[in-house]
Amino acid sequence: MTVNLETPSRALAIGAHPDDVEFGAGGTLAKWAAAGCEISHLVCTDGSKGSWDATDDVASLVATRQEEQRAASRKLGGIGSVIFLGWRDGELESGLRQRWEVCYWIRRLRPDVVLGHDPWKRYRLHPDHRHAGYLAVEGIVAARDPHFFPEQRIDHHRPSALLLWEADEPDHTEDISSFLDAKTDALLEHRSQFRSTMHIDDPSSQEQVESFRATVRERASDAGRDAAVRYAERFKLITKI
Ligand SMILES: [Zn+2]
Repeated sequence: MTVNLETPSRALAIGAHPDDVEFGAGGTLAKWAAAGCEISHLVCTDGSKGSWDATDDVASLVATRQEEQRAASRKLGGIGSVIFLGWRDGELESGLRQRWEVCYWIRRLRPDVVLGHDPWKRYRLHPDHRHAGYLAVEGIVAARDPHFFPEQRIDHHRPSALLLWEADEPDHTEDISSFLDAKTDALLEHRSQFRSTMHIDDPSSQEQVESFRATVRERASDAGRDAAVRYAERFKLITKI
């Protein structure tokens, strides 16, 4: 188990839906942002399935979730880009068109570290998470090599590290002890997800919000145990890129 990468100059987190990045790596991104790293978000889908209310207007849900994602990025200290690829929620594929787009953004933003879902996580149900994970991996392979998608006319770019959250075999820990609140505050910007992912039925209920904070804290505490870190996020670290 390795602990704490050197703070990168630029980091790009690739999530399937608005809020995935905060759940997976919000503490790590907040820590790096505080140390001067430019953090960016790339969200693959439009988040249009993120409601349990069948009467919700889908277009306004999509717009709301984009605003929430921008606010969450700011809470993490993000000064980079927040990009939405806009593929329909639940129907993301990891085909050539999607890979082309992810490659393009890796080349444009030139991150030292890319973060994403682990596509090899066993028994994972949600297809978007699996496909977004493949897109992070395969987008890097395309971005690093000048003969992939030359029509993009942007310099190729090879990140130095890839961190996969929800890792099937985690082997790297980031200490987020001082950034747990930043992670939780950023998650709480995703107000449209209170009911469906955070078990907050009543946003005005301090008790329910506190209970969510306690859940995030417990997970971070569990994640830190192996490395004797108070609060942590764990990843699979890949540096042979
Ligand atoms: Zn998700």
